[in-house]
Amino acid sequence: MQAGHRLPYRDMTTPLVKTRFAPSPTGLLHAGNLRTAIFSALLAKSQKGTFLLRIEDSDEARNQADALAAVIEDLCWLGVRWDEGPDCGQRPITWKQSARADIHNEYFDQVLDTGHAYPCFCSVDRLDKLRRQQQAAGKPPQYDGHCAGIDPAEARARMQAGEAASLRLRVPAAQTIKYVDIVRGEQVVSSDRLPGDFVIRRADGTAAFLFANALDDALMGVSHVLRGEDHIANTPRQLLILAALDLPAPAYGHLGLVVGVEGRPLSKRSGAASIADLRATGYRPEAVFNYLARLGYSGASEQIETLDDFAQTFDPAHLAKGPALFDYRQLDHWQELAMAQAPLADLLDAFDADAVDQPVDAVALEHLAELVRPNMRFPQEINDWAARLFGSHLLKGYTDAARQRLITVGPTFFSQALAVIEADRGAEWSVLKAALEAATGLRGGGLMKPLRLALTGLESGPGLGGIIALMPAAIVRQRLETAAATALEAN
Ligand code: GLU
Ligand code: ZN
Repeated sequence: MQAGHRLPYRDMTTPLVKTRFAPSPTGLLHAGNLRTAIFSALLAKSQKGTFLLRIEDSDEARNQADALAAVIEDLCWLGVRWDEGPDCGQRPITWKQSARADIHNEYFDQVLDTGHAYPCFCSVDRLDKLRRQQQAAGKPPQYDGHCAGIDPAEARARMQAGEAASLRLRVPAAQTIKYVDIVRGEQVVSSDRLPGDFVIRRADGTAAFLFANALDDALMGVSHVLRGEDHIANTPRQLLILAALDLPAPAYGHLGLVVGVEGRPLSKRSGAASIADLRATGYRPEAVFNYLARLGYSGASEQIETLDDFAQTFDPAHLAKGPALFDYRQLDHWQELAMAQAPLADLLDAFDADAVDQPVDAVALEHLAELVRPNMRFPQEINDWAARLFGSHLLKGYTDAARQRLITVGPTFFSQALAVIEADRGAEWSVLKAALEAATGLRGGGLMKPLRLALTGLESGPGLGGIIALMPAAIVRQRLETAAATALEAN
């Protein structure tokens, strides 16, 4: 048996590429899940194909309320749009796996009729015991085919009489299963290494993941599946399912996992930040998208790109099979690039008038946003800057180190600076600076550092000329008088 893949690359005579993202609504998406969605969307877009969103909610016990809404919100926020799936007017599909039970049942009937599958009446106890025996003998767990030989008529009668049964797919003996993994190249597995005839329908009548996932891909016309390496062991069994159903198999590609600093795959349990956490922290969607699109993908540009731009050059041959480290320093690098080009309105949107105890002039706020943009990692930091430049007093006061510096400089420096600034208000920064130098006898850091500390309480920040020009005169006076008083107190 052989399944191959070939990208049609905009050749209109071959069928188009169709990819999908198929999350289970069991919690919030993290970077690892989302990266799979991004690569799948990019693969479809790069081939002018279709990207669909399917929600694999058939394991009811693990579903979480609101998880679906969160998935949709995260994808939309990142600019990953789907052509088929929820909230998608143009080409509706039954995208919720739990609503597809009737469809799945038709195919269960089919594999029963053709003898590719059989009912299994083994109790949980028997299967447990079998597993323990195999474990004790140092063997991998494998179903022993106990029910494989039950006469179909007898099996049907037992089921009709109400006996609980799962359905197992017959795994042919000593068969070589081959496929070309989009990321890893040719894969060869012998059917003898699989855990025996496996469950495709649970005893409660619901479809097992392996079956529903493979069948839905085939029925939805999915041509290429990109997913995490954690699914690689499923693929041979899914190829057997599709062969038994006589349905076409997609090309599968297994991405290296995204791991955290300790080297473990990202998961909610390992404390990985969810996309919702990153959003709440103030990361920009372009930053998260551009970082994730390069996480385990080589050869991309070093500029911020939209998903459509990125798709122009996307090539699955650049996907990595090794693990990819989620590194906040890299994410922060993209955040810096994203902040530099963020629309001013987005920075202003993050402003909360309650952050400052004085009314803030709208034009001054715009100027402030432009002035401190290079100093901000997250848009909401505008609030701290606004409070520092426009608030009636420095909210957090001076640090011990700052206080020490003010004391060292002494109170006279601040009265001199205040006199100059008030006299020369409105003058060019170069003129004001020269006047400050002349009045205080200080220059360079000796002049700027204490002045900056007095005005903003900080060691660093945007140019002082810009700060002084933007600060209301009364606030400049308050800051410098407070600094002088602080320096004096200690003497
Ligand atoms: N629902 C599965 C998951 O979230 C989908 C796996 C796949 O992409 O095939 O892991
Ligand atoms: Zn059995």
